[in-house]
Amino acid sequence: SLQKEDSTTNIKDANGIKGHDMLAPFTAGWQTTTLNPLVIEKSEGCYVYDSNGRKYLDSLAGLWCTALGGNEPRLVTAATAQLNTLPFYHSFWNRTTKPSLDLAKELLETFTARKMAKAFFTNSGSEANDTQVKLVWYYNNALGRPNKKKFIARAKSYHGSTLISASLSGLPALHHNFDLPAPFVLHTDCPHYWRYHLPAETEEEFSTRLAKNLEDLILKEGPETIAAFIAEPVMGAGGVIPPPATYFEKIQAVVRKYDVLFIADEVICAFGRLGTMYGCDKYNIKPDLVSLAKALSSAYMPIGAVLVSPEVSEVIYSQSNKLGSFSHGFTYSGHPVSCAVAREAIKIYKERNITEQVNRVAPIFQEGLKAFSDSPIIGEIRGTGLILGTEFANNKSPNDPFPPEWGVGAYFGAQCEKLGMLVRVAGDNIMMSPPLVISPEEIDELISKYRRALMATE
Ligand code: PLP
Repeated sequence: SLQKEDSTTNIKDANGIKGHDMLAPFTAGWQTTTLNPLVIEKSEGCYVYDSNGRKYLDSLAGLWCTALGGNEPRLVTAATAQLNTLPFYHSFWNRTTKPSLDLAKELLETFTARKMAKAFFTNSGSEANDTQVKLVWYYNNALGRPNKKKFIARAKSYHGSTLISASLSGLPALHHNFDLPAPFVLHTDCPHYWRYHLPAETEEEFSTRLAKNLEDLILKEGPETIAAFIAEPVMGAGGVIPPPATYFEKIQAVVRKYDVLFIADEVICAFGRLGTMYGCDKYNIKPDLVSLAKALSSAYMPIGAVLVSPEVSEVIYSQSNKLGSFSHGFTYSGHPVSCAVAREAIKIYKERNITEQVNRVAPIFQEGLKAFSDSPIIGEIRGTGLILGTEFANNKSPNDPFPPEWGVGAYFGAQCEKLGMLVRVAGDNIMMSPPLVISPEEIDELISKYRRALMATE
């Protein structure tokens, strides 16, 4: 394959520079791993095809993204219809487009965990979370609380990779070499019961301890300095970590007590992945602000959004004459083609009752894969709905990881690829979140490939 030289794999060897022409995101070792990347050329339902025509079951839906699979014709029709009518107009300075107005209305209607008043559009989840910080700062400036600016996020969270969203993220790889996190960001405990609970501590007791730690952090910093708390309902990129029992109930009581805003980062969870329309519905979260992206358009077009509560938007609106406009936005905020596609995606989620579909197949997926929990090389398999993580560990212990140089996770991932299935590998964590339209037969295939890859890894 080193001889192959085309527009996608432009292999260079002169001057010791190897690899293709793209500075690839989140890719290690440009001298080696990008030399011959897997080039995906086509998608169809839950499958993708590489440039050699090989077919793979896409167990991660791209990147927790293509909820409606790889070739939903209605989304293509929505995009082309909009491209043929109005490919672009912006939404600045009291000008906008109908698709963005329609999508905002639709989103406010679908989010029912509590009433939301406004939607702000971005191009990505990272931009949505950056926007959250600016909204919250503007809000506290409007309220005359210039010192209430710190954010609390959680260890192992993922909120994006721009400077601010990477700061909020609790993954060291996003901080090292970038002089992050920014000083206004604090991190509290990762709510991973299996890894962090004390001997004999129940899930409820664990949640109580974590809520107490959060309260202690707020008190230590001074509640007058803490603006917001941000959390994914189920942590995704940190290894798929559903919350322990009573966690969000106890955390919400603490943040409310100290007038700290709650931001739900629903970038992975929203639109059915957990078997509810939003993660907030599943865990009874009443957020002040919500971040959306990915399945918002089933990833057919880039788009993210922030939902803002009536209380926060009221302050922003009523104070903006005094404070000046909310001078924040992107050229492509509310891009009409992205909005038209997102609106169609939401229409489809509703028409096909996507939560019912997820609840029908999720038990096959969860129980089928959790049946491998007894494997001697698996520490924990965890998940809910159509999201699942596998963590390899020595002696089934969270405190006894395999030596990284053994590359257990990478080996398992490579076996899956050989068998025609793509999974997400992060160290010894394997993550899966298939398209929500996956059939029981496709889940059987996924489980069978997982079993064969596991046997080869054991
Ligand atoms: N928030 C969460 C929970 C995510 O999982 C991600 C991406 O995986 C982001 C934010 C960042 O989204 P994006 O990659 O679209 O910037």
